[in-house]
Amino acid sequence: MSSWPFRVGFGEDAHRLEAGRRLVLGGVDVPHAELGAVAHSDGDAVLHVVADALLSGLALGDIGQYFPDTAEEWRGMDSRVIVERALALVQERGWVPVNVAVVVTLDRPKLGPLRAEIARSVAALLSLPEGDVGISFKTSEGLAPLHVQTRATVLLARLLARVDAAPGVGGE
Ligand SMILES: [Zn+2]
Repeated sequence: MSSWPFRVGFGEDAHRLEAGRRLVLGGVDVPHAELGAVAHSDGDAVLHVVADALLSGLALGDIGQYFPDTAEEWRGMDSRVIVERALALVQERGWVPVNVAVVVTLDRPKLGPLRAEIARSVAALLSLPEGDVGISFKTSEGLAPLHVQTRATVLLARLLARVDAAPGVGGE
């Protein structure tokens, strides 16, 4: 690993949508959603993509390695646990997220009214100010009405002082 104290992480996720299921995005239950995510967990495509972006920034693999979708213990799980685990893996190595940008592609319902709530929820999980979590909403223009798709980037910074103070924490 190079010695630069910055890393970019990127993630992508998608879930099929079906009637009669919950739609949870960024830890927020979307009200009046006619369709919800088909998933082994709670299907939170925002939290999944944030966790994957965190892991990818330090080349730690992806959430499927830590939370296999065949494991009975993870069925219906709250995806906050996934982000908390990914964040812990990053922090254990002496790194912290600086800011996060998430794109959610969903045709219906319109999510604009939930932007602040979702940003607050994700920011709280990452111990970031709300202003460091950008959430963009797009539609598929009817190309994928039965899917929710998400993408995210995260900037990670190394806590140099902490690494110096605690040999063995961070670095390789
Ligand atoms: Zn997912």
